[in-house]
Amino acid sequence: MKHLAVLGSTGSIGTQTLEVVDALGDYEVAILSAHKNRDLLYKQIKKYHPRDVFLTDKDSYAYFRGIAGEFAGTRFHDGWADYADCLEGLDCVIGAITGAAGIEPTLLTLRAGLRIGLANKETMVEAGDLVLDLLARYGGEIIPVDSEHSAIFQCLEGKPEEVEKIILTASGGPFRTWAAEDFAKITKADALKHPNWSMGAKITIDSATMVNKGLEIIEAHYLFRADYDRIQVVVHPESIVHSMVQFVDGAVKAQLGLPDMRVPIQLALTYPARARAPYKALDVWQMGSLHFEAPRFDVFPGIQMAYDCGKKGGSAPIVMNACNEVVVAAFLRDEIRFTDIVPTVMACVEKTPWTRVESLDHIFQIDTEARALAADLLKARVVHP
Ligand code: NDP
Ligand code: MG
Repeated sequence: MKHLAVLGSTGSIGTQTLEVVDALGDYEVAILSAHKNRDLLYKQIKKYHPRDVFLTDKDSYAYFRGIAGEFAGTRFHDGWADYADCLEGLDCVIGAITGAAGIEPTLLTLRAGLRIGLANKETMVEAGDLVLDLLARYGGEIIPVDSEHSAIFQCLEGKPEEVEKIILTASGGPFRTWAAEDFAKITKADALKHPNWSMGAKITIDSATMVNKGLEIIEAHYLFRADYDRIQVVVHPESIVHSMVQFVDGAVKAQLGLPDMRVPIQLALTYPARARAPYKALDVWQMGSLHFEAPRFDVFPGIQMAYDCGKKGGSAPIVMNACNEVVVAAFLRDEIRFTDIVPTVMACVEKTPWTRVESLDHIFQIDTEARALAADLLKARVVHP
């Protein structure tokens, strides 16, 4: 019996992780965490009987404290203060919280020397240097869950020193073929319609702006210790090739599969073994043609923005990610236009003086200031006040 924590259990990756656990069997779900989705969390606690549940939303915590008598053997925690004391005996943690809110539990998990299957890319973007430091010091391990990074991880096995470049595939999102002049007409409903993946709202908007690919460039830089000049993005609308690695002799390895996050989630749990999976597998006779094209850097400036922020390092990727979270949330509340998203993030990055990052508290301080600046800049752009 293996013991697992699912952080962000009520989200898209969190619920798929629990599906994988159900299919694999032989797992005890020891820890769950959620924010506001009380109904789903309630059902999950009834089903899995976790020993610890972490609530990051104050009202949700008060709600579950109030009905704790219904759940014998489950302790409820307000935020992450007790988290490090609850990790005894865990085999793996799945990090499926969205945004920089995932930084704290991810770092605590790594400090405990555990394996984390990491979907929460924003932690790598804001705290990549700290993550590498903790990995080296405490012997923990990250198995990427993000499909591209899982693919690269699989292609790299054994040969990291002979890599020429990492080739990150991107579906291109719903506006891949839209003319630049039509971007002004994009609605929230258009942006939430991802052609290949069903995901949480924030990452779906990031995919539409292609800032998601930007975040993944920085994520790849840290996960695979790759220089930014060796990370290339290619648009591949079918989302069958999940990413590729080119080696020094020119050979390219790719990992293929149907777009189904349960496959990389399962690998993060079973690695280095592979378990038979009940999900529909790729049938190469049915696969049809695969297409690859260069990204449109001019209409999706979020990609270059991420290369620039990643290369600058220090505060730049923190400011970029924090502002992006604020701006995307405003778009999801119908307060700004789609075309306001990336320019506002770029303006935040430009207006914030660059600094070196000293500590985790310093990351949180930069993040908080960036969010405040983004909120200020947004006031000028609000279309539906
Ligand atoms: P969702 O929005 O579906 O779920 C997010 C989870 O995080 C929910 O459990 C939510 O709780 C919780 N949460 C939200 N806000 C906070 C907070 N402030 N503090 C603590 N927990 C919080 O996101 P996804 O599952 O789509 O994405 C999760 C991560 O995985 C993201 O970093 C994303 O980039 C990455 N990822 C996702 C993919 C996908 O297919 N969905 C693919 C690749 C990467 P609640 O619902 O209870 O409020
Ligand atoms: Mg991805």
